[in-house]
Amino acid sequence: MAQLSERVKALVQPHLRTLEPYDPNFTPTHVNLSANENTYDVPAPARALIDAALAATPTNRYPDPMSNDLRDELAAWHGVARENVIAGNGGDELLYNFLLAFGGPGRTLVNVPPTFSEYAFFASLTQTGVHDVWRDPETFLPQADELVAAAGEASLVILTSPNNPTGDVAPLELVARVCDACPGLVMVDEAYGEFAAAGTSAEALLAEHDNLLVLHTLSKAFALAGARCGYVIAAPDVIDALAAVRQIYSVNVLTQAAALAAVRARAEFDATVEKIVSERSHVYESLARVEGVRVWPSEGNFVLARMAGASRVRERLRDERSILVRDFSYAPGLADCLRITVGTPEENDAVIEALSEIVPEEAARAVATGNEPACATNKEDQDD
Ligand SMILES: *Cc1c(COP(=O)(O)O)cnc(C)c1O
Repeated sequence: MAQLSERVKALVQPHLRTLEPYDPNFTPTHVNLSANENTYDVPAPARALIDAALAATPTNRYPDPMSNDLRDELAAWHGVARENVIAGNGGDELLYNFLLAFGGPGRTLVNVPPTFSEYAFFASLTQTGVHDVWRDPETFLPQADELVAAAGEASLVILTSPNNPTGDVAPLELVARVCDACPGLVMVDEAYGEFAAAGTSAEALLAEHDNLLVLHTLSKAFALAGARCGYVIAAPDVIDALAAVRQIYSVNVLTQAAALAAVRARAEFDATVEKIVSERSHVYESLARVEGVRVWPSEGNFVLARMAGASRVRERLRDERSILVRDFSYAPGLADCLRITVGTPEENDAVIEALSEIVPEEAARAVATGNEPACATNKEDQDD
């Protein structure tokens, strides 16, 4: 991975010197199951409404900084007030603003890895300390007592539910304990919440916990990753602080119009979400039957799978089958793990068939060569 030049290293802020320029080195493939996008398009009736909204949106004026029409629609949907909602340029912007507003030198974020790597990245940008409370290495579930104890000392906690890439949902009872223990703020990232079982959203706890924030995105279930829109639901004074630090025009007029139309048409997305959820069972059960593959139950639109020589398996999927999945072999705690996004039935069957053939070959090869091949150490593609 590229590094900053020596000249620029001397010029950037000291805590940024070791950062690497972001270059996803993306390989185009026939089947892309690497970034947890929705591989279905926006449903045609919703797309027609989005197109009409875009056509009716002038671009000569600056956007409404607070996206108030969108906030009102989101608030009505979630049964809260406009003051409880803020929209951002993707969930990522809101996560960054959360660390910017409430983190910083001398503050500590409790992180629960293996999880979404952006949290630690945004903590490093904002010089926020990180206290990692590692998940159980076998089940990948959070270690509840250790987490609650750490939350008691922390300024911030981020819990991901369903967690990316392990797929588990944070039990509401645990979220409530963490909120009670933490003197600061607790963010529950529900980027994949639409794919999880009913009754698992931490929104149910908002009324009783004014230090809780719930993050959502239109990038996954709503198939709008390219439009960049996410939102947070929280107490009004917490929303005010996020509003105070944001770049005022970060959600552009076209995104506001598209997001509003999509959220109004939200019922149109139910069928694809249901399809992905049923395909997730198919992928999970099919991979569980492949000898040498271990899979973990998932409530997201992806499945985490472990197998010998995962990095090589991933390369062979890409080079021999034109299928891209995400390699987590480099990530601590995720040795030999691949994350496979649940796509259309054809895409899923292609990856299942390919793994049924490649995994036994690579397992045999690992035995023959006495040990497993060295794993890739670099992040080769996008980080979502
Ligand atoms: C995808 C994702 C997000 C948000 O993505 P955006 O495209 O920036 O909205 C947030 N958290 C997790 C865990 C994700 O996987």
